[in-house]
Amino acid sequence: MTDRLRSVRDIALDADVPDLLASIASAAEREARIRLWLEATLQQARASGQPAQVYNQPGMALLQAWLACQSGDYANALAHVAQVQSLCQSRADIAASLLTQMVHAGILLRVGDTTGARANAQAALVRATARGRRDIAAHALNCLALIAWAAGTPGAAQLHVQNALEMLGPGGDARLRALLLLNLTAIRHTIAADLGAQRRREVHYLSRTDASHAAATAARVPDIWLQALCFSTQASCELAWLRPQSRGPTTGSQYHEDLTWLELIWQAGNIPRLPFVQGGSFPDEAGPLITAFNRYAAIWTLLQAEQVLQQTRVTRLAIIYDMLSTSLRRAESRIEELLHLIEQFQQTQYRLKQDALRDALTGLPNRRHQQEVFAALDADRTRPYAMLLIDIDHFKSINDRFSHAVGDQVLIKLAHILTSCTLPTDVVIRHGGEEFLVILLDERSKDAASVAEHIRIAIEGTSLSPFPISITVSIGIAFAREVPGGTAAIIAMADSRLYQAKYNGRNCVIAPPSGAMGAD
Ligand code: GH3
Ligand code: MG
Ligand code: MG
Repeated sequence: MTDRLRSVRDIALDADVPDLLASIASAAEREARIRLWLEATLQQARASGQPAQVYNQPGMALLQAWLACQSGDYANALAHVAQVQSLCQSRADIAASLLTQMVHAGILLRVGDTTGARANAQAALVRATARGRRDIAAHALNCLALIAWAAGTPGAAQLHVQNALEMLGPGGDARLRALLLLNLTAIRHTIAADLGAQRRREVHYLSRTDASHAAATAARVPDIWLQALCFSTQASCELAWLRPQSRGPTTGSQYHEDLTWLELIWQAGNIPRLPFVQGGSFPDEAGPLITAFNRYAAIWTLLQAEQVLQQTRVTRLAIIYDMLSTSLRRAESRIEELLHLIEQFQQTQYRLKQDALRDALTGLPNRRHQQEVFAALDADRTRPYAMLLIDIDHFKSINDRFSHAVGDQVLIKLAHILTSCTLPTDVVIRHGGEEFLVILLDERSKDAASVAEHIRIAIEGTSLSPFPISITVSIGIAFAREVPGGTAAIIAMADSRLYQAKYNGRNCVIAPPSGAMGAD
């Protein structure tokens, strides 16, 4: 919000519009003005020698009734009303008669006779409706609303005004419509005062709409006083909306009663609408109202500016939100890509590790894998195991006679035989060249001699067609329990037994002396 707007708002909020309204519309001031005007008019009539013309105007007599009522002289007030009624009858002026009946209701209300007041207003309503005078029926409903309001039932009052507006219809008298909307606005504020914060705000919202309709309607009536009144009421509603604790438009029914009466008197008697607003020039009294209107205009401008600011803020937030959403979506898809890459990387890493631990020719675990197995065995020296070191006999001559490629096929075949002669829990390793290592773990180590023999026989009996080749192997066995020193010492012992097997003529198994060294 700009500084200029902020200061406009401060000025507008500081102005206590309801007080302003009350001061210019005070009953005492109105009464004094009207009394002066009436006396001057009567004097003029007497001076011109035609007092009857003045006295015989229903409006004049009603004004006197009203002034008498304001002074508390109700008997005199009722007498004036009776006089007007007989005048209306003699002239067969039904409309004036109905309006007078309503003024009668108003005086009864002031006397405290609510029932009598209601009976008069209802009778006027029935008569007006029967004659198809919707405008007068709307007046009667407005009177009933004021009676209900004064009786402390604003809910019923609200209903009457709403019915009055409906009765009047969209094409009805704009002036009366503006007055009805003014009444509705103030009645709603009376209702709102007893409600909880949220419901109160809803009702304030409705009354803002009514006040705005009242102002728009009054703008069509050539009456600066009515316009200023509607604008200032609208200003009060806007203030109440901005500051829920403020009083809002005039909440007492008295002021609205007075307005209604003056309107009825004017309608009945064709006298100047308000004695102190004449000749089309702005009277002094309009000054404060115009100020109020200007303040209302300032508040309205401010509200619109705030609305624009809010919209700008919302738009800006929406743009930021869109940008953040796009960035988030991008980040999410990037994260997904990265996760996918990480998964691929992990798979590759796993494959590489597997490849690194496998012999490329035979697919058996290789020497690197052997190191890991040896490290695990050395970490737990209590674990029993047996090593079978297997070496092909005269393998060099196979390479020499049939080629290195055939030698490779022999190595692959041998790997298959070793796998098929052992269990999945046994470890079969290509130790290097044409040497293989089989490790039997735990209880299984007891089977070392028989497994070695089984392997030797299986290889001896395998044909390597289409080549006329048969091979044999020599095997040295050593057990964990034989010597201290771990895997290095055990494989060295297996190797020396393998050497012994070669020395003994090959195609045989050399194990330690029987009973020695299996698992416990
Ligand atoms: P011995 O019975 O004394 O063990 O005789 P040998 O011929 O098997 O032993 P020697 O150590 O003299 O020869 C081993 C041969 O194994 C030498 C080498 O060419 C061959 N060799 C080692 N690795 C491979 C391989 O991956 N493929 C092939 N085709 N031959 C290999
Ligand atoms: Mg060898
Ligand atoms: Mg060999």
